[in-house]
Parts: sequence; C-alpha cells; structure tokens
Amino acid sequence: MTAFPEGTILGYPRIGRRRELKKAVEAFWAGRIDEQELERTAAELRAATRERLAALGLGRDDSAIPESFSFYDQVLDAAVTVGAIPSRFEHLRAADGTVGLPAYFTIARGERERAPLEMTKWFDSNYHYLVPEIGPETVFSLSSDRLVREVAEAAAAGFTTRPVVVGPVTLLALAKASDDAPEGFDPLSRLDDVLPVYRELLARLRAAGATWVQLDEPALVSESLPADTAALATAAERALAVLGGAEDRPSILVAAPYAALDAVFPVLAAAPVEAIAVDLVRGAVPSVAEGLADKTLVGGVIDGHNIWRGDLAAAFATLERLRDLGAAAVSASTSTSLLHVPHDVADETSLDPRLVSWLAFADQKVQQVGVLARGLSHGPEAIAAELDEASAALRDRLDAPGVRDGAVRERALVDADFSRVSYEERESAQEALGLPVLPLTTIGSFPQTADIRRARARFTRGEIPRDDYDDFLRREIAAVVSLQEDLGLDVLVHGEPERNDMVQYFAENLDGFAVTEHGWVQSYGSRATRPSILWGDVSRAAPITVDWSGYAQSLTAKHLKGMLTGPVTILAWSFVRDDQPLGETANQVALALREEIADLEAAGIAVIQVDEPALRELLPLKKADQPSYLDWSVASFRLATGGAAPGTQVHTHLCYSEFGVVIDAIRALDADVTSIEAARSRMEVVADIAEAGFDHGIGPGVYDIHSPRVPAVEEVESLLRRAVEEIPTRQLWVNPDCGLKTRGYEETTASLRNIVEATRRVRAEV
Ligand code: GLN
Ligand code: ZN
Repeated sequence: MTAFPEGTILGYPRIGRRRELKKAVEAFWAGRIDEQELERTAAELRAATRERLAALGLGRDDSAIPESFSFYDQVLDAAVTVGAIPSRFEHLRAADGTVGLPAYFTIARGERERAPLEMTKWFDSNYHYLVPEIGPETVFSLSSDRLVREVAEAAAAGFTTRPVVVGPVTLLALAKASDDAPEGFDPLSRLDDVLPVYRELLARLRAAGATWVQLDEPALVSESLPADTAALATAAERALAVLGGAEDRPSILVAAPYAALDAVFPVLAAAPVEAIAVDLVRGAVPSVAEGLADKTLVGGVIDGHNIWRGDLAAAFATLERLRDLGAAAVSASTSTSLLHVPHDVADETSLDPRLVSWLAFADQKVQQVGVLARGLSHGPEAIAAELDEASAALRDRLDAPGVRDGAVRERALVDADFSRVSYEERESAQEALGLPVLPLTTIGSFPQTADIRRARARFTRGEIPRDDYDDFLRREIAAVVSLQEDLGLDVLVHGEPERNDMVQYFAENLDGFAVTEHGWVQSYGSRATRPSILWGDVSRAAPITVDWSGYAQSLTAKHLKGMLTGPVTILAWSFVRDDQPLGETANQVALALREEIADLEAAGIAVIQVDEPALRELLPLKKADQPSYLDWSVASFRLATGGAAPGTQVHTHLCYSEFGVVIDAIRALDADVTSIEAARSRMEVVADIAEAGFDHGIGPGVYDIHSPRVPAVEEVESLLRRAVEEIPTRQLWVNPDCGLKTRGYEETTASLRNIVEATRRVRAEV
C-alpha cells in the first residue's frame, strides 16, 4: 500500500474558471459543436485542473489530486457507470451495452415524452443532483469506463490521481424506486447486486494506474433520508467488507462529508479500508474506535462550504486532536468537495483588497491544505508564519469597520416585534382589499426576455445611462401591468425586470454584502449561480423596491403586490459570515426588510410577498439540529413581517410541495397567504393541507412553470376543483407554481389566460 498523501482536497470545481464547461456543454446541446470537440474541451479542462492543483502544492504522483470531473452530475455519473438507468432510456445504450455521452445528457435532461431524472438538493448544499431510479428490474453492469479513462489520461500526463466516485450505499440511498418497482420497494435492497460492478470498477481503476480511490458516502451522515442510520450503517459494513475484501483494487478512502458520522464512525473504523475522511467543520473530532491503528484519518478542517480564509491555527489544532485517536496517520483536507466554492479569489480584481485578504476560494483552500500538511510532517514551527498571517487576517476582519456596525447592533428586539395581531383580526381588516373569491395572482417574476437581459448587460457595462435603463424598466413594468389587467388577474405584480436574481438584487442594495465578478458555483448541470458575500452587519441605506412597486401601483386600480426576498433565502443563497450565529445575521436582514415593508405600505402597497423558497433547503441534516434551525429561521421571517399593519396582506412563497415536512414551520411563519408548488404533483399536496388543518390563505400552484407546456382550461379546472373539494374556498388562491422568469411570453400568456378561464368556471359554482 502506498501511503495516503499528507494533504488533499475531496474534490475541485469542474465548471472551469470562466465557466468553460458550461459554454461547451450548452454549445454541444445546441448542435454548435460535436461530441469530439466537447470531449476535447473537457480533457483540456481536466489537464488544466491537474496542472493548477500541482502548482498549488498537491503532489503529482501521490494520489493527492482528486479526479473529480463531471459533465453534469456526480450521482448521474455513478448511476451510469453501474448501468442503473431507467427502463425508458434503455434504448439509448450502444450495442455493447455502454452509455455514451449523448445518452448521458438525455437521461439528465429528458427527451420528448421521456421525463429526465428528478433533481434534488445534495445534502445541505445548494448543489442539486439527479435522483437515480432503481427497481428490481435494474440490471447492474459496468456501463461506462469514463472514470477509468480519466485516470489513464492523467497517467499519460505524468500524474497519479485519485479517482472519486459516489459509493454504493449513497448511490442506492439517494435513489428512488423505479416506476416499475412494486409499492414499498427499497433501492438499498439491491446492494449485493451492485457491489460486483463496483468491484469491477475498482479493478479497472487499479489497472489504469490508480493507487487510491475515493468512495463518497455522504449518505452515512444524514438523518434526513428515507433509510435510517442503522440501515445505512449495516449497508456500509456490508459494502466495505465486499469492496475492501477484493484483492485487485486501489487503496480505499471512504469520504463521509457534510456532517458528523456519529454512530457510523466505528463501522468505518472497523471496515477493511485504508482511509476515512471526516468532516470536522460540520462535525466534531470522533471518539476513539476499534480498527484505526492501520488507517489514515483524513481531517476535513478547511471549510468546503464557505469562502472564508478562517482560523487556520484552529484547523491545525483540530488535526492534532485527530492524531490523538491513534490512527496510523492523519492527513489534512477540505471538509467537503470544493465544488461549492468559486475557483480563485485572485480573479476578483474589483473587490475591496481588505475583504479579499479575508477570503479563500478553492485555489486558496488548496494552499491552506498544503500549509497544514506541512505542519503535520514538520511540526507547527514549520508553519508558524502562515498560521500567524491567517490569524492576523482573521483579527483584521473581526475588527474592520462594517463587520460590527454599532447602529445595527444597538437595536434591541422585544417579543412584540415578532408578531402581528391575530389572524382573525387581520382577516377582517383585509376584507377592505375587496378581493373576489379564489383571487388570481402570480408569484412575482414575468418572463426575463432577451431584451431585458441585453439592456441589463449594457447598463452594467456602462453602455447606457441609468436614466435610459430606468425608462426601459418602466416600460417593461407598464407592459406587464397592462397584460395582467387584460387577462383579468386580481392581485398584480410588477414583474421583477430590474432583478438579475432574487437574492443578488437585494445583496447589491444592502450594506454588508459584496458581489463577485467570477464567483460562480455549480448549481446543477450546466447551471451556476454567483452567491453574494455577506461579510458585515446588514443594513438598508435607502428603499430598494419602493420606486418600482409604487410606479406599478400608480398604473392600476387593482392591488399591486410588493415583492421581497425573505431573510432565510437571502442567507441560504449567499456566502454568509461565520463569526456569529446565523440567526443573528438573519435578524439583521429581517430588520432591513421590515423597513422596506414600512416604506412599501407608506407608498400605498397593501399586499406584500416575502419569498422564502429556501426555508426547507437550509434544514440541518441532523434531527437534533432541526428545531433550533426552525426557531431562528421562522423568527427572522416574523421579524421582517411583524411590523406590517393588520390590513396589509403578507404573502409568502415556497417552491416545493413537501408540505408535510414544513407544515409546522409554515404555520409558524403566520403569513396571511402562502403559495406553494402543487401542479407537478397534480395537487396531491391539498390533501396534506386539509389533513394538517391549515386555516390561513393558501395558493397551491395550478401551472407547472418548469416546462413550456400550456395547461388546458379543463386541466386547470380539474386541479382547482380538487383544491375546492378539500380546502374551504375562503382560504384558496389561484396562482402558478412559481415565478415566470424562465418562461417565454407566448406560453405565459396562453397559460394565464387558461387559468383565468378555469377560475371563472369554478367561481360560478362556489
Ligand atoms: N418572486 C420570485 C419570482 O417570481 C420567486 C422565485 C422563487 O420562488 N424561486 O421569480
Ligand atoms: Zn418558487
């Protein structure tokens, strides 16, 4: 066995420093480049990544560099590798049974009537993976040797890299039962069938030159999966016994990031594998366990979730404590793959240099790992200068103006700030709004047309003056308002044409945030987002949305809905300071929004929506952490909205339909009206709502905005009737599933017209 390197990272961003992969993949989809050219671009990116990581200090030939590329998603990669593809895509296999690149993309994106794999959140990150579908009929067989070829490609370039693959337990635990599976089928029951394919893969990787392989098994830390911890532990024990027992394999590193392993740690310690990577940012140093004496413990002490340079000395101290466990060796690593952070802070030439000195993106984190690794082998004296420098930067950050802003901090909060008068009182005050039964509204955004994007880009580049851009936006708003009047909607929106993104827009307009130029992070497939950096105390220098909403309101006699992004979502989709509890930061954002709501009210806006689509996203993986999360997240929403007058109707919007999971939270938010996704599940959620006994306003979506399909009048009508059957009409609202920004005007107008007509028909009977 070759020793595990002293420093490594669990994975590296794969989209490219300038999103080269996104551009190439989308060019391939559009038919502008062929498969060969796409493969060439990807190979160049992988080569550049290896060279870069070596230049940053990872070893070329000791398996320190992970082979963690993906064209779309690492879970899809693993599913395709072991041949776990749904039967509706079986025809895409080549004659020899393999699944090629075009087939891979089709499984990810769907084709005509064949729906793609579903997508869902990857643990507690903002990354989304594709959900494998596995049933009794799934035939596992090695169906792609892409990873093997990448190892060989690296070897040819003089590297010994460490291939990374989602492990068998996580692959099955994240899978859902296939359409063909019987009721109650558990994909984890196929473990024994998939293990031989993993064994074959390991042998092939070994033959291609890999000395180490990394099996990613984050499912082992989660308490939020259908499989319980005991079942996952048993599966891990079995899987590692089989894989570790193979003769012809690389040494195995099992990585279980995103939280503490808790009770599963001893299972891994006892397993016949050579190394275990633990997340020491989200979890504490584990207790001593049997079987460590011949293993390497890889301590994930550099935060893979965040962009702070952080406390390097504390990270080193944690590694020293890990040493006390008596493992054969200890290595330094990131807590998770660096997939969740942007490439390189050196690219951010327009950020304040002082802020830059507090930051570490992926490349800086690689260097930090290098420093810690040196400290492990040569002792802390060898890295004293680097540790001091990092500590000085941290001190500078904590003392810097704006990080702690007296004016923000002296606002004392009292219980009354978190509540409005009773719902009954508000309901009667809001009768003055004069809304019809089954009021019609939308979720906020209207199509972000090419015109809008072009105008924004030109304005950002300084090619058109502010006044012209504002005129353009006002014309957009006027058109959106008049369209809604023509259609016959009841509560109108301004359409959000001024917003590049529902979080970034607020970040750009609040103090305490910075916006990056190249800080892209993969969200799913070819999509990336550019999270803002919430570095200091948050406050609002001036009203943000009031001019736009006020202008829109001035154009119509109907109610115009003000549109804000809620505190939890703003936090969830930004990189957030780590020097105080999240709840404290959330309350600062909440107070800024509270001021905005007061200003909207003063401008004559009587309906205000505060979007919280990320409420469920931030839910901690460990059950024990969930109640306190829900406490502070709900409190911040209530603080934001708690100052609204009884007659002001507060709406919120959540993007998903697992109502059951968050019903208590939704109830606690105490919004007057909550809109949620429902059309995709054909209104299944209304049964949950009825069962839960929810009595506030509720708008289950009747139009799936994720596809360009126009729902027919009868279809919407039947969804509405289902809702009317289960929920009292006085509570019901009619709206699409989500904002319309990704849609075109043609289908949007046709769909809304059908929704209005369906509502008219149902109204006639209630
Ligand atoms: N108001 C936002 C919009 O309509 C809400 C988007 C969301 O929930 N993701 O675009
Ligand atoms: Zn939504």
